[in-house]
Amino acid sequence: MFNIPFNRPHVTGREVQYIAEACDRGHLSGDGPFTGRCQRWLEEATGATRALLTTSGTSALEMTAILADIGPGDEVIMPSYTFSSSANAFVLRGGVPVFIDIRPDTMNMDEALIEAAVTPRTRAIMVMHYAGVPCDMEPIMAVAERHNLVVIEDAAQGLLSSYRGRPVGGIGHMAAFSFHETKNIIAGEGGAILINDPRVVQRAEIIREKGTNRTAFHRGETDKYTWVDLGSSFLPSEIIAAFLWAQLEGAKEITARRLALWNRYHERFAPLEAAGLARRPIRPDDTVSNGHIYYLLLPSREKRDALIASLRAVGIMAVFHYIPLHSAPAGTRFGRANGAMTHTDDLSHRLVRLPLWVDLGDRLDEVAGHVLRILGAGDAS
Ligand SMILES: *Cc1c(COP(=O)(O)O)cnc(C)c1O
Repeated sequence: MFNIPFNRPHVTGREVQYIAEACDRGHLSGDGPFTGRCQRWLEEATGATRALLTTSGTSALEMTAILADIGPGDEVIMPSYTFSSSANAFVLRGGVPVFIDIRPDTMNMDEALIEAAVTPRTRAIMVMHYAGVPCDMEPIMAVAERHNLVVIEDAAQGLLSSYRGRPVGGIGHMAAFSFHETKNIIAGEGGAILINDPRVVQRAEIIREKGTNRTAFHRGETDKYTWVDLGSSFLPSEIIAAFLWAQLEGAKEITARRLALWNRYHERFAPLEAAGLARRPIRPDDTVSNGHIYYLLLPSREKRDALIASLRAVGIMAVFHYIPLHSAPAGTRFGRANGAMTHTDDLSHRLVRLPLWVDLGDRLDEVAGHVLRILGAGDAS
């Protein structure tokens, strides 16, 4: 038995030291020095006008829905192949997710299908950069401009990826990152909202601080601290920010190590693809990705399920996702599909994700060897 988990969180070694510093300083609620450092780092890394830490990627997405003024009946165009939070954020405001199909190459939203899904109720386009591979943002921003729509990036998986030289999270009007323990850069639970529209920065600060102008008050910009707008408690404590700061300091190295593992899988599986036994992920030439997910597409659902079972039998945890939102119980209740979901349905049934974590090291070769052997393209040695 190999006992190789699907994911194992990586720590840089400075997390506990920084948490101790926050304790000694005695500022444990949000928006202390560590939060400030993390936010400036994210602004520099993405070029965003403003980055604000949140308690999760999900809460950052909820903030984008409030900032985009999504109300009852307003439609948001998004891929069906994504995580529930991409849609939930808008459903919580009374909005309606309108699902479109994905591209068969990157598995990202098919930008060519957006315009046909636009109606007089459409307010926003929600893109998700699957596996950290950026969506084709230029045509997406152009459609949005033609129809006066807000573009929100679900960049939960996309930190340090870029499209035509522009960092993910800094391209749409707003974006959300996640620091959940399964992501590249982690804080246990955590996230950030990125704002690229200077007109909504101040409102974002208010929404994140229970609808109050506390942030401006602390900067001395107003002499009253009061309830001024909708809001909730979206900001994380300094303990989370201290942990996250240790991760962000190591973010470039963590990403490089993940990419090295990603590339190793990719090389090992070239013969599989050549023999038509599986298809490997595609990264468009005008993008840089961050090694977030390594997946294979098998020829059929049966072969995919059999591979997962065979790997589990030797103690290697491989998984699949997502049940497409248009066919999920809440998706059929709260949203609607626009057009055929051919690639979404087909690919989601054939995808398998392999273990990919920073400290996987040479055990990657055990995983790759077993995959090759099970699929009949070599042996496990
Ligand atoms: C992880 C993830 C989220 C949610 O992030 P949390 O920090 O867990 O709330 C949202 N969207 C996508 C695509 C994700 O992968």
